[in-house]
Amino acid sequence: MYELIQAAENTFYINSPSKIGVYRSSAENVWLIDSGNDKDAGRKIQKILDQQGWKLMGIINTHSNADHIGGNTLLQDRLNCPIYSTPMENAVIENPILEPSFLYGGYPFQKLKSKFLMATPSKAQNISLANLPDGMEIFPLGGHFWQMIGVKTPDNVYFIADSVFSETILSKYHISFNYDVSAYFKTLDFLETLEGTLFIPAHAEPTADIRPLVETNRAKTIEILNELLQICASPKFFEDILHNIFEKFSLTMDPAQYVLVGSTIRSYLSYLCDMGKIEAFVENNYLFWKTTEPSL
Ligand SMILES: [Zn+2]
Repeated sequence: MYELIQAAENTFYINSPSKIGVYRSSAENVWLIDSGNDKDAGRKIQKILDQQGWKLMGIINTHSNADHIGGNTLLQDRLNCPIYSTPMENAVIENPILEPSFLYGGYPFQKLKSKFLMATPSKAQNISLANLPDGMEIFPLGGHFWQMIGVKTPDNVYFIADSVFSETILSKYHISFNYDVSAYFKTLDFLETLEGTLFIPAHAEPTADIRPLVETNRAKTIEILNELLQICASPKFFEDILHNIFEKFSLTMDPAQYVLVGSTIRSYLSYLCDMGKIEAFVENNYLFWKTTEPSL
């Protein structure tokens, strides 16, 4: 963990629970793509920068999940570097309580305010204002979170954040966080059109061909949609649906998984509802979900 790996002439990444990108824009200047999962990650990144004699020009946050912005505060406090992302992600980077509040759908109880779901605040600016290195490109990766972005370095290396997860993660957890299923499918289609030297997902091994992993992620999403259509063959209320999903995929519920998987399942239900496959109706003061069209 936390070793610096060279991916191309000026592109590197640091192995950590969520991979951190490093782009060397000149002999002594570097940019970071995400900052790891916590303060300790920030400290380890700073050590690597010091060892290499590199100056940190800025941090690009692909999105605001705590495991991608956890090193922000320490690095910004110590190195006074600017941080850039998209406006909705910046809202969370600057006000981290928005993450557990959003996931839970109300004021989060204490167990949801752990560092796993809530980072410490840092000051962020709109990525459109960043004076990025020549040839670096930013592109939208909708679906996983509000306004997630990816970064293409001038070495033709793509950092694609949480747009796809590894087969190991998918076969263990089955349900990866998804905010907007329709945007997610579009992102998967988009990834298949890219030609790069290397693709670096935050939670999977780097690969020269991203297409097989895109297909695995797409298939898993479709599997879950079909599962929901089956579960809702008879009317179900939300907690019952969530229980069925945890049982079906042998998941272990705790407060964090309740909100992460729960939020994702709500997004899946919205997608199915908007596609005309499921309807939501109220009876006896329950909101029920019922399948109206059992195939996708
Ligand atoms: Zn992540």
